[in-house]
Amino acid sequence: MAAMARSSGKPGRDCPRCPRLVAFREAWREREPDWFNAPVPSFGAIDARLLIIGLAPGLRGANRSGRPFTGDYAGDLLYATLAEFGFAQGRYEARPDDGFTLVDCRITNAVRCVPPQNKPTPQEITTCRPFLAATVAEMPRLSAVLALGRVAHDTAVAALGARRSSLSFAHGSARPLAYVTLFDSYHCSRYNTNTGVLTAGMFRDVVAQLRAFLGTTPPSPTVGAKFGVS
Ligand code: SF4
Repeated sequence: MAAMARSSGKPGRDCPRCPRLVAFREAWREREPDWFNAPVPSFGAIDARLLIIGLAPGLRGANRSGRPFTGDYAGDLLYATLAEFGFAQGRYEARPDDGFTLVDCRITNAVRCVPPQNKPTPQEITTCRPFLAATVAEMPRLSAVLALGRVAHDTAVAALGARRSSLSFAHGSARPLAYVTLFDSYHCSRYNTNTGVLTAGMFRDVVAQLRAFLGTTPPSPTVGAKFGVS
């Protein structure tokens, strides 16, 4: 197999690398032509100090709206909590044009295309990883990474150049990894909150920990600006 070309942090709309996900994407383009139905770009400024990594777009969330965590339950909990701790501002209305902005924070996914049943295969996770690695590498002020769930954790560890076995997932942990500190939380999905794996209070504690770690100093001239997607 030919060597994979060096990736930027932005896969093309028709990225062909995962045949199963391409077929799923194409099927939903036919079924719902008004949905985004493409690799979902990262949300937030490139000079943010915090990067949050989710698993993959939800079918009727980010895959429909085109913005990470926008339009499903996980986004309701994530964005309300980020706003409470000053990592976001504006009114979140579950639409990409709602004017809601991130502050010193960027959000991406370990896998950029929606997988069937929210379950990417190990091969798909590995195939999409160069896009995550490029997203991490292009952030000049990156200091903290929050991994939402075990897959995001393992992918973050690998994307930062460490061996996955060197650091296992642990909810509530904050540990040094390469040049950042890696924070872990159970994913803020409806399933996890319905089953009590993660409560809103537990998630709040993780984001409070991030706020304490990063402090409250205004971090960059772009804070308060309306950030687009990239
Ligand atoms: S999941 Fe990533 S690598 Fe696979 S097709 Fe989508 S953008 Fe490309």
